[in-house]
Amino acid sequence: MHDLLIIGSGPAGVSAALCAKARDLDILWLGNKDLSPKIGRAERIMNYPGLPAVTGREMRDVFLRQTAEAGIALTEARIDSIYDMGGYYVACANDRMFEGQALLLATGVASGREVPGESRLLGRGVSYCATCDGMLYQGKRIAVVLTSPQLEHEAEYLAELAEEVLLFAPYKGCGIDLTNVTMMGGIPAAVEGEHRVEAVRSSNGTAHPVDGVFFLRDSVNPAALLQGLEMDGPHIRVDRQQRTDLPGCFAAGDCTGRPYQYAKAVGEGNVAVHSAIDYLHEKKRANTR
Ligand SMILES: Cc1cc2nc3c(=O)[nH]c(=O)nc-3n(C[C@H](O)[C@H](O)[C@H](O)COP(=O)(O)OP(=O)(O)OC[C@H]3O[C@@H](n4cnc5c(N)ncnc54)[C@H](O)[C@@H]3O)c2cc1C
Repeated sequence: MHDLLIIGSGPAGVSAALCAKARDLDILWLGNKDLSPKIGRAERIMNYPGLPAVTGREMRDVFLRQTAEAGIALTEARIDSIYDMGGYYVACANDRMFEGQALLLATGVASGREVPGESRLLGRGVSYCATCDGMLYQGKRIAVVLTSPQLEHEAEYLAELAEEVLLFAPYKGCGIDLTNVTMMGGIPAAVEGEHRVEAVRSSNGTAHPVDGVFFLRDSVNPAALLQGLEMDGPHIRVDRQQRTDLPGCFAAGDCTGRPYQYAKAVGEGNVAVHSAIDYLHEKKRANTR
């Protein structure tokens, strides 16, 4: 049981991990080894104090060096679901489980708009998690919407299970080349079905019958990750202390709203850790009363 689970390795997560380390919290930091695809993609960053006119890659290298020098380890994992256990949180990734007394969500904001029909059919043929739901589609025909090369292994795993995969991968240089995978253009125009998924409609208007649709994105809707989390549109609702509606759960960075900026993400990561420390102190005091 860790003091704090930090989920997300973008600037908000980096800032939170550094602050938590400085305050000697026992943290588990979960994310990906390249930190954030959004950092890597920035051509030149002109508005981040202390790092004038760096490229995204240069900024990422500085972040990596700084966390390594601080002795902070990153656990590579993509969290599929989180459970509020009423006093602590359990985060699950594939067959691994991580426990924390408090939770900090720094998962960024999902790029790209939601596809019509996606939310309505979530859990009824629409899934965000290859590991959790892949087995349900053994021998079936599915569509996979993949927005990042870093998640190609998950699409390949689904292709091992399914009989046929219609793959929507709207980025250049997709490296998947399997006989049962058909490359489709762009992203689907809609997911269709009355009670559960029946078809996916491509942007040219053709409906392709499928049994399920997997959306594999860098970031998923936090409300689908953790039940009961109050949202404000696509963002997690937080107060000025970065507290969510769930006790002991904090959020920082793009996932809490605009502007989508490094400096805001970093600032909020710092505030969220201070609030988590207050929460943990208060919890400890209450337990010893
Ligand atoms: C091309 C481009 C250029 C930009 N240029 C600038 C600029 O010049 N100046 C500026 O201020 N801002 C810029 N931005 C915006 C900036 O990148 C974002 O505001 C910033 O990255 C947000 O940080 P974050 O930590 O909130 O989220 P992200 O950077 O999105 O990081 C979130 C991290 O969490 C991980 N994650 C998500 N879900 C999970 C999960 N379930 N389990 C584990 N890990 C998870 C993701 O993989 C990712 O690594 C730019 C963005 C882009 C795309």
